[in-house]
Amino acid sequence: MISDKRLYFDYAAGTPLDTHVREAMLPYMSETFGNPNSLHQFGREAAAAIDTARASIDNVLGISSAEILHRTIFVGSATEANNVALRGAVRRMRERHGVKHPRIIISAIEHESVIDTAHDLEQLGAELIITQVNGDGFVDVSAIEKALTHNTAIVSVMHANNVIGTIQPVSDVAKIVKEFRKKNDGEYPLLHTDAAQTGQYPSCNVEELGVDMLTLSAHKMYGPKGIGLLYVRNRELITPLVTGGKQEFGMHAGTQNVPAIIGFECALTLARQGYKKESEVLHALGLRLTAGLQEINPGIIVNGKEPRVAGIWNMYIPNVRAVDFIVQLDMAGIAVSVGSACKAHVARISHVFEAMGYADERREGNVRFSLGRHTTEKEIDDAISRIRSVLTAKK
Ligand code: PLP
Repeated sequence: MISDKRLYFDYAAGTPLDTHVREAMLPYMSETFGNPNSLHQFGREAAAAIDTARASIDNVLGISSAEILHRTIFVGSATEANNVALRGAVRRMRERHGVKHPRIIISAIEHESVIDTAHDLEQLGAELIITQVNGDGFVDVSAIEKALTHNTAIVSVMHANNVIGTIQPVSDVAKIVKEFRKKNDGEYPLLHTDAAQTGQYPSCNVEELGVDMLTLSAHKMYGPKGIGLLYVRNRELITPLVTGGKQEFGMHAGTQNVPAIIGFECALTLARQGYKKESEVLHALGLRLTAGLQEINPGIIVNGKEPRVAGIWNMYIPNVRAVDFIVQLDMAGIAVSVGSACKAHVARISHVFEAMGYADERREGNVRFSLGRHTTEKEIDDAISRIRSVLTAKK
């Protein structure tokens, strides 16, 4: 008895545009349409809107007033921001210090946009070190410390993992990176964090995290798709990826997507205002989902230990192949994922479970439920009852 209502539990992949955000964006698609790089008034109005949005974002991210403002570079996505960070740091270290084989250190549970970029840079002559994580889904800070060398250009450790939601000890990594730089009187390595899953949380504060670069994406926080940003503490230390015009302080050429930037600012501000209550609600909903599923099968386990982001609940379901199960759930009107939406319609077991040391069978049965602003208790209960039908029919 499957109801017609579709249930969405894939907020970590994408969120619907908030209505306030849409309202904020609309004027910049019509009335204030000028090219922000034009000198006339149409252009100046659009440029002023970007400046205001950027200053507000800098403020929300905790960029201290002692620093020169405008540390954020707008790009097309978190993927692009991660590319700018890794490729930019490696190239700049080569140019500035004549280092032939700059080292990149990443964790084994990074998003594909970091892992694949790092592998590509390795093909282009960089040294790549991938450090392991423990069975609870956390990076090993001492392994990162041991991997630091004079030729290390960048250390990239994500803030929250997109598959299991674990929040990584980024500020601890920052301490060892800063110490290393101080001891060696060097400007590298830079510490980058991919915070695509945590922009809405106040813990995502560049000062408190102590990072040199930070990636965000608007479409994970009820903003528009096609806009991301990279916070860069010192633009001198990375080489731009996209060249042409001098937009974004010469760091990312191309006419800016003004409505998306306005929407990004609005989404981030709204998310930060509502985060506390929202996190509590999401946590309670996640517990309700877990309890309901464990009633069906007590063998169901939540993957990854706390601290985790409130909305990501990755569950191991015994005797289930996740890649098939998500299709069955889709047929039952429930949208979930195996972990990452970024595999272009191909459901594959996430590399995160291998990194956590799970055995083959334990890797296959993991399903990510990611809850969001519009998830209700009723939806959770409805999902539990549909999942009960799917699992019972399976037997
Ligand atoms: N990094 C993380 C941690 C993510 O979760 C995602 C998307 O799921 C990305 C990067 C890529 O984001 P975008 O779609 O903005 O490129």
